[in-house]
Amino acid sequence: MPYPTQPTASHFIDGAYVEDAGGEVIEVVYPATGAVIARLHSATPAIIDRALDAAARAQAEWATWTGTQRGRVLRRAADIMRARNRDLSVLETYDTGKPLSETLVADATSAADALEYFGGLAGSLTGEHIPLGGGDFVYTRREPLGVCVGIGAWNYPTQIAAWKGAPALACGNAMVFKPSEMTPLCALKVAEILHEAGAPAGLYNVVQGMGAVGAALVTDPRVAKVSLTGSVPTGRKVYAAAAAEMKHVTMELGGKSPLVIFADADLDSAVSGAILANFYSTGQVCSNGTRVFVERSIRPAFVARMIERLNAGVVMGDPLDEATNFGPMANAKQLAIVEGYIAKGQAEGATLAHGGKRVGNEGYYIEPTIFTDVTDDMTIAREEIFGPVLSVLDFDTEEEALARANATEFGLAAGVFTQDLTRAHRMVAGFQAGTCYINTFNLAPVEAPFGGVKMSGVGRENSKEAINHYSEVKSVYVAMNPCEAPF
Ligand code: NAD
Repeated sequence: MPYPTQPTASHFIDGAYVEDAGGEVIEVVYPATGAVIARLHSATPAIIDRALDAAARAQAEWATWTGTQRGRVLRRAADIMRARNRDLSVLETYDTGKPLSETLVADATSAADALEYFGGLAGSLTGEHIPLGGGDFVYTRREPLGVCVGIGAWNYPTQIAAWKGAPALACGNAMVFKPSEMTPLCALKVAEILHEAGAPAGLYNVVQGMGAVGAALVTDPRVAKVSLTGSVPTGRKVYAAAAAEMKHVTMELGGKSPLVIFADADLDSAVSGAILANFYSTGQVCSNGTRVFVERSIRPAFVARMIERLNAGVVMGDPLDEATNFGPMANAKQLAIVEGYIAKGQAEGATLAHGGKRVGNEGYYIEPTIFTDVTDDMTIAREEIFGPVLSVLDFDTEEEALARANATEFGLAAGVFTQDLTRAHRMVAGFQAGTCYINTFNLAPVEAPFGGVKMSGVGRENSKEAINHYSEVKSVYVAMNPCEAPF
């Protein structure tokens, strides 16, 4: 299938596209039709070896560049990405099935933001001077970690590749990135663009493969740090493997985030928040607020307005048509998982208030779905679904809403809609979540830290916080006086 910006081989290593047909075939499927649009090969041990060697070599050179020089490369890459936004967005749509109306504003643009932001920071990454008594002092050096591995999920392939790569490179590291086997195409373009922008060959490499390739990267002694975006079960495995060699980790994992809507909230604004928290990217967003706690008195009005807005606004169809605002699920497996949860919700006694059915005979489309009469113990209220399924839970008091919102192993995001200023701040202070929202939901600008607590993750991406996760601080003690010893 002809589409623009098509990568020309499976891997990008040492500044060039590389193929090794000995690797297991990975079929890339366009989720809107189910058609195979590309066949790639999983990385063989030889490919993994080449990528890690190239990264180690490039990192040694890159670390000698000034921060300003490194930043210039990242900012140039951001400019190239913006100039090619449409082609990159079309590729993202083929890779994920997300509508072009979304990918044009949320993927290559978000990746470019990260490259620009960390490119801007690179020149000002410095240590500290710490005066001690008698003229002695300590200075600290902020040093790169070395070769970092990034492993991606399938929902935001361009963004994830850049959110990990940009801070890693800004700090003087090299990266080997393994995209999800479900969406392997976009990261290749990130690598190509960084190379075109002047990054030394081998600085940012992409290798394809399933979990086994990720596992091989994580355990390789050349690797200093692993940043994973994925599910909690994968996170446990990767964290444990990294811990065996005391490697640094960032874990961006799953969630089952609460969104609490009080009776005093602006109803339409709250409905907008619940739409953003459940149906953007066809519900395939880690921070989604899928447990929507609605104060009992406004529940009927809230649900009625929600359904009205979905009926009037959802345009499901060809993702490449810019009028479409609701695409298919990204793959057949995830569609089956979502259908399974919808069946379970009904079997466990929740009321299917809207949607719930597959749409069309081709591709992986499913309707935006709303369950009411959901209780905290139901499977759909406890487990991450990763699809467009919203659960409405009724509540009566602020204390009750907060306690129930926190009664989960996850802690990625949480939101509150209310006009009461003090209550809003009380709620977010009480939420056990890494990212909180007042009267909005699911924003993730590069300037703000993003990440989870509890089982949802370790570390933060984006913002100045990310620098701490891609660099190490060395303390240097300097004596200005003779060295004294007790004997
Ligand atoms: P997944 O856990 O199945 O896979 C994630 C990645 O890990 C893939 O590239 C996969 O090949 C790789 N992998 C699998 N087993 C591995 C192993 N043993 N060692 C190393 N790598 C391994 O996740 P997914 O289904 O691709 O993505 C959906 C999940 O990602 C959801 O749980 C979602 O919430 C989460 N997610 C989190 C964030 C965040 O920022 N917190 C963002 C997007 C998605």
